[in-house]
Amino acid sequence: MIEAVQSAQANCPNGPHRLRHLLSVLLQCGVCGGPPAMRGQDRYGCLNYVMNGTCSDCRGIDRAVIEDRMLAGLEVTVGTRARRCT
Ligand SMILES: [Zn+2]
Repeated sequence: MIEAVQSAQANCPNGPHRLRHLLSVLLQCGVCGGPPAMRGQDRYGCLNYVMNGTCSDCRGIDRAVIEDRMLAGLEVTVGTRARRCT
């Protein structure tokens, strides 16, 4: 897993900082569908809002909040699939 992340970082044209937070690869803006951007150290926002001004979502979300939600969703998905396999 770590090797796959390092390989993806090496091939990323925007540099290794793009995959700093592993779960960020699963995020997209709910307004425009754009990729996430870190806004400060612990907050995600829309890259299109931050860099281009082409998105109206100025709110963003705390990293801990969205990562907790994502992990809860993954637990439900994995648990559901595990129950189907037994
Ligand atoms: Zn957006």
